[in-house]
Amino acid sequence: MLLSRELFNSLLTQFATGWMLWEMTDHESPAAEQAALSDPVDLLVRDARLVATMDADRTEIPGGWVAIRDGAVDAVGGPGSEPEASRVIRADGCLVTPGLVNTHHHMYQNLTRAYLPATSGTLFDWLTTLYPIWAGLDEEAAHVSAWVGLAELALGGCTTSMDHLYVHPHGGGDLITAEILAAQDLGLRFHATRGSMSRSQKDGGLPPDSVVEDDDTILAESERLVAQHHRRDPLAMVQVALAPCSPFSVTPELMRRSAELAEQLDVRLHTHLAEDTDEDDYCLETYGMRPFELFEEVGWATDRAWIAHCVQPNPDEVAALGRWGTGVAHCPSSNMILGVGLAPITELRAAGVPVGLGVDGSASADSASMWTESRNAMLLGSLRHGPASTQARDALEMATLGGAACLGRTGQIATLVPGAAGDLAIWSLDGPSHAGAHSDAIEAWLRCGPSSARDTIVAGRSIVTDGQLTHAGVATMLAAHETISRRFQGL
Ligand SMILES: [Zn+2]
Repeated sequence: MLLSRELFNSLLTQFATGWMLWEMTDHESPAAEQAALSDPVDLLVRDARLVATMDADRTEIPGGWVAIRDGAVDAVGGPGSEPEASRVIRADGCLVTPGLVNTHHHMYQNLTRAYLPATSGTLFDWLTTLYPIWAGLDEEAAHVSAWVGLAELALGGCTTSMDHLYVHPHGGGDLITAEILAAQDLGLRFHATRGSMSRSQKDGGLPPDSVVEDDDTILAESERLVAQHHRRDPLAMVQVALAPCSPFSVTPELMRRSAELAEQLDVRLHTHLAEDTDEDDYCLETYGMRPFELFEEVGWATDRAWIAHCVQPNPDEVAALGRWGTGVAHCPSSNMILGVGLAPITELRAAGVPVGLGVDGSASADSASMWTESRNAMLLGSLRHGPASTQARDALEMATLGGAACLGRTGQIATLVPGAAGDLAIWSLDGPSHAGAHSDAIEAWLRCGPSSARDTIVAGRSIVTDGQLTHAGVATMLAAHETISRRFQGL
């Protein structure tokens, strides 16, 4: 056992103590804050080829800098106006963007990544092959897979990720807290979602009985996790949302009650919707309506919700999503690899729908890089509507501001303005793959490559430096992952 029950419990205790100490801290008086203004900032990233602030005017600053203090952006500016700083990172020749935001993932699936028996089936085939294996999920597996999944995301410039963990096997333990501990250990901003499945094969659903729960258990656990972990301050490192899995794995009653509970607790709602035409057929046969009609019927047609995939909406449904303000997590790699179709992203954005990007689970889109998703979003947009429809700036917008909107964090993350989270990525634009790309740093960032982040910074802390994770435990966690994933796959 590489992460023992004792170690897990000790991590949990440290985590709880940390929050208590934070809550007990006497926050600085206005006078102290004033005095601090003249102190050096904590971190200065300077001399970038370009800083893409993603502020309200989409300001881009050649030769720019970003200053971070107390985990938040203190100021940004052009060459010659840099403030004093305790720590300086030079970004010569680099593009600096806000940290990218991942709006859809299932990190536990990296335990069955590129699993050959499931690689050639449809979405429904793929799920039914893998559900019995995922039934082995426990706290250790959830912790290690989330840790590795978040580490992979950080290498790709992601600073905030959600995770949709919807497999809760009987006796599996507190999997969501196990994930949150992983995010806290690595230092990424994390939106846990309490996923759920309540409609098993015996009730006409897709998953086996061993991984579904009853509605009351799901809702009680959701409420407990929100009370325990959800933070409401603008720079919150952890939030919790409610996330019944999909129309073919939960009952309409659970969808309805989840929406009511989310409203009562003031947290967000997430689910899969309109991923595949099989889902349209299932909903018509089972409920006598299309997935979006069901979605509206059970009280989800609000700006509190964001949905994953949204490949199959008809034009009326696109317009409805815009009216409702419901967000969409566009998962281009997963949509391609599962062959479910081309999502109408240009139409959704034109209708006013907040569109973010998601890497999706590591057993469908087996590579989890927000840079790759940004590039694939650009390529698929061009494939569907021509190159003018989706340029690199459109993809960057989805990967930052669109993602923040999906997670309910507009103005708080994914924008380099004073007071927003001090989360950013530094991208090298040199070497053979970028040679000759002189005219536009943002187009070069996404058209050339492949790229990983040179530096990934969350709340002013370096998570990735020179393309390497700074955490000392990477090798240990990868060894643990090797053991668990082999056990899952019977190897
Ligand atoms: Zn998914």
